[in-house]
Amino acid sequence: MDLPAILSEIVAHAADREDRGTVASYIPELAKIDPGQFGIAVATADGRLIAGGDADTGFSIQSISKVFALTLALGKVGDQLWERVGREPSGNAFNSIVQLEQEQGIPRNPFINAGAIVVADVNLGGHQPRVAIGEMLRFVRYLAGDDSIAINETVAASETATGFRNMALANYMRAFGNVRHAADLVLGSYFHQCAIEMSCRQLALAGRYLMLDGRHPEGGRVVSSSRAKRINALMLTCGHYDASGDFAFRVGIPGKSGVGGGILAIVPGRASIAVWAPGLNENGNSQLGTLALEELARRTGWSVFSPP
Ligand code: GLN
Repeated sequence: MDLPAILSEIVAHAADREDRGTVASYIPELAKIDPGQFGIAVATADGRLIAGGDADTGFSIQSISKVFALTLALGKVGDQLWERVGREPSGNAFNSIVQLEQEQGIPRNPFINAGAIVVADVNLGGHQPRVAIGEMLRFVRYLAGDDSIAINETVAASETATGFRNMALANYMRAFGNVRHAADLVLGSYFHQCAIEMSCRQLALAGRYLMLDGRHPEGGRVVSSSRAKRINALMLTCGHYDASGDFAFRVGIPGKSGVGGGILAIVPGRASIAVWAPGLNENGNSQLGTLALEELARRTGWSVFSPP
């Protein structure tokens, strides 16, 4: 399979598309991003890294950070996490509050905002936000093997100034006892994890443990094999909010999107893929990024639903 040629064609097709979606505007800093950009990077299980387009441009990983935060939280509290967060697709928007009242403040899954806020509360663990933020940054740097990964403080400040819905979610869950620290502390940590800036190349490298059954490519384990399998399962069923079914149908591999326009997608045993195009579709997932992954899956035959 000629992956470099396939990626070049995907980049060319992306450049030709006129309907590029709309950049997120509810975080004012993200509204300033040029929607003309497109990047893709594929880290393969045999150790290659193939990239195309704007694969070295940093972008706000936003909700993709929820994958790394979940991995850390499971390491801290193990399966006890599932007493506070569910494992079902929500069928609602990423920032929805509607299910929390009937479900006693227990979010449906760790990838909608409410669930990620509970995960951030677990990761805070009685510390100051800067301790949890430092731990998250070190973890992502270790996964990618790249100490230059950093947080965009301007994006974090922009979301802190406007993140009223997340503040409402955190306080509402606090009323049920499912958020245990003050909302501003939990969100201080959450907004900074979302504001981590990475390129497609760095993100594809950071996702390798999920294609490698939980192992770090340089040796040692990040998570157990069964935990890697479960994180991939959650990405498949919940990684694109109420468009998760459509993503599984069209692309057929686990993926996690963010409102910065990035998507991390995992082909177990084969590839860790990062795509980025800032324009979003109506579900808040990257418009061109989804199309690019659909094309890549079709051209490579990569899928969790068909034999290798
Ligand atoms: N920081 C964003 C928020 O909480 C992340 C949402 C997303 O990427 N879907 O609203």
